[in-house]
Amino acid sequence: MTGSIHEKAKIELRDVRKSFGAVNVIQGLDLTIEGGEFVVFVGPSGCGKSTLLRMIAGLEDVTSGDILIAGRDVTDLDPSRRGIAMVFQSYALYPHMNVRENLSFGLEMAKTPRDEIERQVQAAAQILKIEPLLDRRPGQLSGGQRQRVAIGRAIVRKPLAFLFDEPLSNLDAELRVSMRIEIARLHRELGNTMIYVTHDQTEAMTLSDRIVVLRDGVIEQVGTPREVYEDPNNLFVAGFIGSPR
Ligand code: ADP
Ligand code: MG
Repeated sequence: MTGSIHEKAKIELRDVRKSFGAVNVIQGLDLTIEGGEFVVFVGPSGCGKSTLLRMIAGLEDVTSGDILIAGRDVTDLDPSRRGIAMVFQSYALYPHMNVRENLSFGLEMAKTPRDEIERQVQAAAQILKIEPLLDRRPGQLSGGQRQRVAIGRAIVRKPLAFLFDEPLSNLDAELRVSMRIEIARLHRELGNTMIYVTHDQTEAMTLSDRIVVLRDGVIEQVGTPREVYEDPNNLFVAGFIGSPR
């Protein structure tokens, strides 16, 4: 992976479309996310949020359109070469490996030198406050600790940008609040571009520089939390952002 941990990549989506068979899931979407920006995608289940993230990460092909990361057209580039790290709601840690090994694994696969791996693992563990957990296995961790390790696995790769797909939805309400604060701190400390998908309006309102409201693969509104909340474009946006979950 290229660049320092503080690198900030602009992400551009140009007329991006996605169909599964005859179903158009993403319908000609244009969006520019500035380097270092924290953008939250919200919208009802099935509106295309995960598909969009997966296309940016390269885990799903686009049907048409272009995706640029840090000015480079990555539309046809392999996921491992896009400089993007994705964090999912299911943590998918390796159960038979301890935390240190879970954090190191991807770097070992990439043939990163041993001392560099050690440095990255220490830095990530410090940022996430999981240093005391490095010798434990996932089965010996709480849900919040596991989610921290999953985020740590993204951090050690020094990505240009982080993509989060509902990372906190499996946690209980109290943990969700504390992890939300952690993620905000992470963004302040690392400064990377972050795209975050959530159902949770509080997460959207408190974490984001800008909110993107999606409906059926179309952007209904893009704006700061305040703009979207105080001046919704239509009843759908008002209902979605305004009404409690
Ligand atoms: P969200 O994350 O907003 O809930 P998704 O991006 O997961 O929505 O899904 C958007 C739409 O695309 C849904 O209707 C879903 O059923 C459909 N879809 C997603 N992945 C596939 C796939 N691999 N094959 C067919 N349809 C899919
Ligand atoms: Mg989804």
